Amino acid sequence: MRDSDEQLPKYTVAIVGAGPAGYFTAQALQSSQSDELTFAIDMIERLPTMWGLVRSGVAPDHPKIKTVAKVFEKVAAEPGFRLFGNVELGRDVSTEDLTSTYDVVVLCTGSAIGKKLGIPGEDLPGSLSAAEFVPWYNGHPDYASISVDVSGETAVVIGAGNVAMDCARMLALNPAELDSTDTSGHALEALHSSAIRKVFITGRRGVEHAAFTAPELRELPKLEHTDVRINPNEVSEAHERAVAEHGEVLEKHLASNLEAWRQIAEHPISGHAREMEFRFLSTPLEIKGEGKVEEVIFGINEIKDGKVVATGASYSIPCSLVISAIGYESAHISGVSFERGRIANIEGRLVGTNTYTVGWAKRGPSGVIGTNKSDASDVVKLIIEDLKSPKSAGDITKLLSPNHAVVNQVGWSAINLAEIANGEPLGKPRVKEVDWAKLLEIGLKS
Ligand SMILES: Cc1cc2nc3c(=O)[nH]c(=O)nc-3n(C[C@H](O)[C@H](O)[C@H](O)COP(=O)(O)OP(=O)(O)OC[C@H]3O[C@@H](n4cnc5c(N)ncnc54)[C@H](O)[C@@H]3O)c2cc1C
Repeated sequence: MRDSDEQLPKYTVAIVGAGPAGYFTAQALQSSQSDELTFAIDMIERLPTMWGLVRSGVAPDHPKIKTVAKVFEKVAAEPGFRLFGNVELGRDVSTEDLTSTYDVVVLCTGSAIGKKLGIPGEDLPGSLSAAEFVPWYNGHPDYASISVDVSGETAVVIGAGNVAMDCARMLALNPAELDSTDTSGHALEALHSSAIRKVFITGRRGVEHAAFTAPELRELPKLEHTDVRINPNEVSEAHERAVAEHGEVLEKHLASNLEAWRQIAEHPISGHAREMEFRFLSTPLEIKGEGKVEEVIFGINEIKDGKVVATGASYSIPCSLVISAIGYESAHISGVSFERGRIANIEGRLVGTNTYTVGWAKRGPSGVIGTNKSDASDVVKLIIEDLKSPKSAGDITKLLSPNHAVVNQVGWSAINLAEIANGEPLGKPRVKEVDWAKLLEIGLKS
């Protein structure tokens, strides 16, 4: 039963997933309200902690990005919003029950499974996906106890996007630079004892095709304790190819990336003990080792008529840790159709149903946090267009088993405040609690 039947808002909406897409959807619904149109929003999240990848994805050394969480907490404080943490769609509540009782369901469940390289040796110990490594250093409770072997001198990160860059930076920074961040305690301890001094980042295509964004590239020459290497010829050849393909006046994004690469290539090497090195036109063919990762074999590519083609030549990088960061796909949820790694949808509509999707679950793993805001606003317009007369008072409490432990907004605030308080004496923004049982203990006390 909701607080008061008399003030029962007209439409009940279940938002599944408390990441940026979920909160921006709630915000867009809240700001579309009028005297005639009101929404009661129940947000459902499988974890006892909120904010999705803002908490478990964004790199610890980029704390400013995480301040968007303040917006999320404002959304949560609005009347008509209720939070149900530790509730997983497909496990604790069925898709059918949710869609048959709420007027609208919005799936904002993200993309959390790492895409596979599909090469021999990928499953050797020492070979990890960014979808495991990132939540490990970010204190996601499902990944706190995975094994990350940092005992060797060299690591290889496969992928040419910002996630790969985050992984490489975390391995190549002096760990003292992470002491004042919210890097999880177990990861910080491992990184302090790490023998890794050289981190390769590899991409299949040319420098000009890499998906890194300019701010991430411009940060590299400024690293205080890490040298960054790229062969200057690779950068000038990429520039020549780009001009040959697009003409002298390059599109802004490409021009600023190539300029950032030029600055990286020209930046003097200081002789630091720690290095990052970029290798482009390299396709991973095999990960080799006796019982654990010992080397990665790469095929060398070239660009012919604008296409990446294998030359037939290869080279090896001896290493003990490989992290593949080549994209994500959505985890399946019973009762929901998926295609090409995301929820099957047309512009956010799960056609013929009262269900919608926003964010990475809808679009796949692309776009920054703000992209989910415009996405949410577009889908909320469709939701409002499609509204029929309200059918019933959707109420998740009636769908959960009677003794299901729910972390509500008060419980989540207790976790959040406890973490911040634990961080204060150490000069950190927070110390993340990574143990499910302890998170539930704090989150359920309130
Ligand atoms: C490593 C990494 C670094 C990034 N860094 C940046 C950055 O610096 N700047 C930037 O702008 N963007 C960054 N991004 C992109 C940004 O994080 C995404 O655009 C954004 O988080 C996508 O939002 P989302 O809500 O769709 O998914 P998510 O943030 O993944 O949220 C999905 C939520 O749904 C929950 N969920 C999943 N399944 C269920 C279920 N069955 N039942 C209930 N709940 C469920 C999950 O637990 C999660 O909380 C980064 C992404 C990654 C992977």
